[in-house]
Amino acid sequence: MTQLEKGGPSLPQERKIVTAIPGPRSQEIEERRKKAVAPGVASGMPAYVVAAGGGILKDADGNQIVDLGSGIAVTTVGNSNERVVAHAKEQLDAFTHTCFMVNPYESYIEVAEALNRLTPGDHEKRTVLLNSGAEAVENAVKIARVHTKRNAVVVFDHAYHGRTNLTMAMTSKVAPYKKGFGPFAGEVYRAPMSYPYRDDAAAGTKVSGEDAAQRVISMIDKQVGADDVAAIVIEPIQGEGGFIVPADGFLPAIVEYARENGIVFVADEVQAGFARTGRMFASEHEDIVPDIVTTAKGIAGGLPLAAVTGRAEIMDAVGGGGLGGTYGGNPAAVAAALGALESYEQDGLVERAVEIGEILVRRIEALQAKHPEIGDVRGRGAMQAIELVQRDSIDPHPGLAKAIADHAAANAVLVLVTGTFGNVLRFLPPLSISDELLNEAFDVLEEGFANALA
Ligand SMILES: *Cc1c(COP(=O)(O)O)cnc(C)c1O
Repeated sequence: MTQLEKGGPSLPQERKIVTAIPGPRSQEIEERRKKAVAPGVASGMPAYVVAAGGGILKDADGNQIVDLGSGIAVTTVGNSNERVVAHAKEQLDAFTHTCFMVNPYESYIEVAEALNRLTPGDHEKRTVLLNSGAEAVENAVKIARVHTKRNAVVVFDHAYHGRTNLTMAMTSKVAPYKKGFGPFAGEVYRAPMSYPYRDDAAAGTKVSGEDAAQRVISMIDKQVGADDVAAIVIEPIQGEGGFIVPADGFLPAIVEYARENGIVFVADEVQAGFARTGRMFASEHEDIVPDIVTTAKGIAGGLPLAAVTGRAEIMDAVGGGGLGGTYGGNPAAVAAALGALESYEQDGLVERAVEIGEILVRRIEALQAKHPEIGDVRGRGAMQAIELVQRDSIDPHPGLAKAIADHAAANAVLVLVTGTFGNVLRFLPPLSISDELLNEAFDVLEEGFANALA
């Protein structure tokens, strides 16, 4: 039987190093894993978790690791959040599954109503629940195609939309996500993203959001044809691409172009959604109202759930039986989502994300003042990243990102590396983390930079 301990908000909030990380117990499990688990699924930090809560992950050797990743922006409300656990437990004791397509249950409707209310825009909306972010993106494309009776889908450089066949085609980075897995779905066209740090450096001047949008519009008009485009799908802040925040005005210009041309504008808020950026949804920072919003990750405090929420007239285009899946909107996941949504709205988490963002930016900027290898600092709220470059250039420095993440891991701080060039450190702490832990984690990172660049 697997060793587990009590996690959630009562887990002591201190960083603790008991053994080397990973310790002997984790290494023992890791050996079994090698014989049992397909190697295609890799783990960044092979410290096996037995409990988590607040800002701490506790491993099988008793080490307590500061969590700056939230299971990739999932446990935003905190691991084993009280509200999430209470709702899910109550549901598990009542029934575990019926399949919503066979016998429905009210809690699914409650989640749909909440998403229709919380996503940007006060127009009439409908929601369908699914299992994963990739599935949400696939369904958004299906719905947009039926509604528009068009085929083409426009996506962006550095985009990440998932690992299913269609979403691999939509994802930009080849290794490790796509290499050898083709052939990929057709009718997917890639447009240039607004990437202020690299755009401005290449142009030798500031590239406006409107100018960056014009590159996209011109690409669509010349290479695809606006009246063949069903959907433009974009992350309002790119996640796996390296927390790229497009220049001001870029997203509104694309939304306007989509509207003028009958194209469905899909905001993939799977990573940036749910309080993470200091707004309930990242689209709100630019006051854009997407036609469809895809969500997952932060939606249910760790249980697998995803959603497509869109304008009623678009969502209503698909007739009965066209959407669904055996587990989509599973009762336990839906109950957990009701707990998580309650937490976002009632525990002041949007405001907390703003505060955490201020601490992150203050600490990162202090580092940047010392280390010119920190080429760019970007993000919003509790979704911040630093892009590392070679001294006196903008050439990516993936080795430095790895060295810092390794130093952090050895000192019980979990930091995720990402970006097209593997040179971005990204910070996605749970919003349940304390200021003290966050600052302590940055003391470790500061040490990491000093060591790596000594
Ligand atoms: C993670 C992610 C996905 C895929 O979600 P899965 O649940 O892993 O399928 C899609 N879009 C974005 C923006 C993501 O960050």
